[in-house]
Amino acid sequence: MARYTGPSCKLCRREGQKLYLKGERCTSGMCALDRRKSAPGQHGAAKKKLTEYGTQLREKQKAKRYYGVLEKQFLNYYKKADNQEGIAGENLLRLLERRLDNVVFRMGLATSHKEARQLVLHGHFTLNGHKANIPSILVKVGDVIAVKETESPKIKALVEAMADTVAPKWLELDKNGSAKVIAMPERDDIDFEINEQLIIELYSK
Ligand code: SF4
Repeated sequence: MARYTGPSCKLCRREGQKLYLKGERCTSGMCALDRRKSAPGQHGAAKKKLTEYGTQLREKQKAKRYYGVLEKQFLNYYKKADNQEGIAGENLLRLLERRLDNVVFRMGLATSHKEARQLVLHGHFTLNGHKANIPSILVKVGDVIAVKETESPKIKALVEAMADTVAPKWLELDKNGSAKVIAMPERDDIDFEINEQLIIELYSK
């Protein structure tokens, strides 16, 4: 399935929740959702009661869009999560959090998952000293993610901006542009509002 290229803010309005898809704009007071809460479309303002399926589907769409993952990839994460020991919903979120593009986002080097994905694709990072340009690589405990040495003013500015980053406790930040994974992400490390159990119920049908 193709990547969505339409207006990002429409997706937040559809979910009725900020998905933080447009970087600094999302926290700047310019957020479209802060100004207009209704869903997009002619009948967007009408309150519709969702079915059980509809509620589960919306939750899956929310997670998929927040992390910038395509449908098929998302289903694969579910299958993997369901086969792991422990609570499937938490396993799913843990897998999504461990993606390299998400780690770059959590390091404060990008203002959205989309920007993080672009930075990774453009080869600005190393993983344990080796070039890493695949956004879906899953990091593990002990891995070190670092900005590649560069003369790029943009990347240097991003590293400087890391000074203000509060990283989740599973990442040990070196504010010179690197982070070490010191634990697996836990459920309470994820501050994005999501009911992962609904996603599991959707796929379990
Ligand atoms: Fe969503 Fe950001 Fe647009 Fe607000 S500004 S609606 S959080 S993408």
